[in-house]
Parts: sequence; C-alpha cells; structure tokens
Amino acid sequence: MEVRQVSVELGVPVGTQVLVCGASFAGLATAFWLAQLGYEVTVVEIARGLRRGGTPVDIEGDTIGILARMGLLDAVRAKVLPPRTMEFKSEDDGTIGVMAAQQDAKDERYEIHRDDLLDILFAAIEGSVGIMFGRSVRELANKSDSVAVTFDDGSRHDYALVFGCDGNRSRTRRLAFGDADFSYFMGGYFCLKVVPDTELLPPNVSQIFSSPGLMVMLNGYEDRTDLGFGFRSAAKIEYDHRDRAHQRAMIHRHFDSRGWKVPAMLRHLDADEHFYFDQINQVRMPTWSNGRVALVGDAGYCVSPLAGMGGSIALIGAAGLADALLRHGHDHEAAFGEYHLKLHPFVDDVQDRAATSGMAMMFPADDAELAERDRQLGEGDLKL
Ligand SMILES: Cc1cc2nc3c(=O)[nH]c(=O)nc-3n(C[C@H](O)[C@H](O)[C@H](O)COP(=O)(O)OP(=O)(O)OC[C@H]3O[C@@H](n4cnc5c(N)ncnc54)[C@H](O)[C@@H]3O)c2cc1C
Repeated sequence: MEVRQVSVELGVPVGTQVLVCGASFAGLATAFWLAQLGYEVTVVEIARGLRRGGTPVDIEGDTIGILARMGLLDAVRAKVLPPRTMEFKSEDDGTIGVMAAQQDAKDERYEIHRDDLLDILFAAIEGSVGIMFGRSVRELANKSDSVAVTFDDGSRHDYALVFGCDGNRSRTRRLAFGDADFSYFMGGYFCLKVVPDTELLPPNVSQIFSSPGLMVMLNGYEDRTDLGFGFRSAAKIEYDHRDRAHQRAMIHRHFDSRGWKVPAMLRHLDADEHFYFDQINQVRMPTWSNGRVALVGDAGYCVSPLAGMGGSIALIGAAGLADALLRHGHDHEAAFGEYHLKLHPFVDDVQDRAATSGMAMMFPADDAELAERDRQLGEGDLKL
C-alpha cells in the first residue's frame, strides 16, 4: 500500500503542487495561505514584476482580522496613510459638501498605498513560493486528478489545483469557464494616473467634481496626487486595452471643455503612457469554480472601483478559500462549494451597493440625480 506523507494536521499530501495565476492582492494572499496549508505553490504573473500604481486600498472590517492572522497587521499599520477628508466641488471651485475622515477609534479603518500593500504581501511569500514573472498560461485541461497546464512558452505541467487570480479580464476564467461573458457593464469608464506633483490640492484631502455623466477626482498625499477621470457611456466602447492614444483621446473628448482643475490634470495625463484605464464593470458568476480550478478576487467577483473594496474583498476571498480548504482537507469540491456559499452573499451586497448608490454618488447621471446627491451632502445624509 502506498504511504503518503501529509503536512501536519492539514491533510495535504507533501509535494502537492498548485498554481496561482496573477500576483496582485488575490494572487499573493492566496499563495500565502496555500503555502501555510502545506501546498507547494507556484505563482505565474504575466507582467515582468509586481504591477504597481492605482489608488490606495481601504483596510477595514474583516480585513483587519485577516491581516492579523497573516501576521501582517503591524507592517500594514506602519504604512497607514493619514485620515482623509473628501470635498465635493463645483466647477468654480466652490465647496458643495465635505465628508470628514472617520476618526471613531472603535471603527478601525486604514488606507494604505496599493504598492505598499503589494510589497508587504510579496515579502510575506518570498522564499516559500515559486514565482514566474513575465509568463502566463495558454491552456488548461481540467482532469479528474489534476489540471494539465500549458504555459505561453509551450512548457507543460500538471497541478493538483489551479487558482485564477488574474483580475477583471481573467484569462484563467475564460480557459476554465469558456467564452461566456460574466462581465456586468455599469455604464462608464474610469482612468487613473498617479503623479509625483503635489500642487493641485493639499495633502490628505480628496476632491471630487461631478457634472451629469462626468466625474473628476483628486487624491492629495504628501508626495503624490492621484488624478481620476470617469465618464458614463450607455454602450460599451470597443478599444484595445494597450492602445493608450485611443484611451487618452476618449478622456479628452469628454473633458476638454471642462474648467476647474481639469486642464492641469489633462496635461499630466498627456505626459506619458503610465495610467490605468478600464470600463467600470463587475464580474458576476453563478459559481467561482469549475473542477479543479477556482477564481479569487476580481477574476471571480470584481466589485468595480466604485465599491472602493476590490483589494479588501480579494484578501477576504483568499482567506475564506483557505479556511474552506483547511476544513475539507483535499476534498476540493466541498471546499470550493463552501467558499462560494459563505462569501457570495457579501459580494452580492457590495456589488448591489456599488451599482446603485456608488454610481449615483460618484457619477450622477443627470441634473436630477446631481441635485439629489448635493441635497444629501448638504444634509449630511451621504454615506461612503
Ligand atoms: C496596475 C493596477 C492598478 C489598479 N488601480 C486601481 C485603482 O486605481 N482603483 C481601483 O479600484 N482598482 C484598481 N486596480 C484593481 C484592483 O487592484 C483590484 O480591484 C483589486 O485589488 C483586486 O485584486 P486582484 O488581485 O483580484 O486583481 P488585480 O489587482 O487586477 O491583479 C490581477 C493580476 O493578475 C495579473 N494577470 C493578468 N492577466 C494575467 C495572466 N493571463 N497570467 C498571469 N497573470 C495575469 C495582472 O498583471 C495583475 O498583477 C488596479 C489593478 C492594477 C493591476
């Protein structure tokens, strides 16, 4: 009889190899937990290094406890950003309303730069996980006892489980679930650029200027500023996600005639190719796993930038998946089922709020919606 070594208490046969596709919050956190559970983990990331940039990540609610369980809360606290005030502006720079930073000591809530959290998670797995940068998966074949993976350089390897943590446009999702479109288009586009300039507004302040169908946003820090542009579009726009000139032209078409700080923001946007541009969408799937492949984070349940929770949901998802795997040993079907069952009500709730009040607050569609938002701001009823 074959005797298999198992890692202490966890029931994972020693040498069980698993693959994680994507090295951002979902991928790094999933890799962390899988290594803790005793799996031999490889991470494959299409970019040549960690993909940096973007707005800060909110750490609150369950995410605090999860980071504490990961032993990373002190590292996160050391990088926490000062509390931030949000000002809603008119085109002539008048202040329509202000939402002060939450200072309630009971309600622990942090903001941390996206890059700082990536570095903390990466440091936590370095050495215990294999990482392949600049590589991707070309094909996946779900078999009864493994997943046969063909990488983009033609090499092949079998893994016990594969985890798609490759974001909103996940290739793992397409390879494992086929060409069905799980993307729920929310009717808008969002562009974000980070600049080292601090001239546009004071540090630790965010400013938002909305007009029907349009939104511009500035986040000021001690050493940088985030510039955000958003516009509504009833129909999806065809564009190549590598075609920066076309993306920039779309932003100019919507914002060239606008006042406030927009002309200065557009000059920054034109300076180079380093910005984030994507449709505002969610990923809504009836299940997050197929056979031995499971999705984590945006790949399975993108909540959209309007939810302001993409990073924390990825961390919550990775921890939920690990808890389910721990409870069910290597019965991956039971574990993946429990992961979905426990997490999807929370995801549904966040997605519903982003699609309704999130859109109305950030992107009022017309004059009536804008007036209603400003009324709520004036009366202190608006909630983030
Ligand atoms: C550069 C960048 C900037 C962002 N800026 C913002 C922002 O300003 N506001 C906001 O709300 N959200 C932003 N996001 C999205 C945000 O990070 C996610 O919503 C959230 O953190 C969930 O993380 P995730 O790990 O599921 O997905 P993501 O953070 O999107 O990470 C997916 C990872 O998978 C990698 N990948 C993609 N395809 C493949 C493939 N075929 N093979 C292997 N790896 C692959 C990507 O390079 C990336 O590292 C940004 C994402 C990126 C990558």
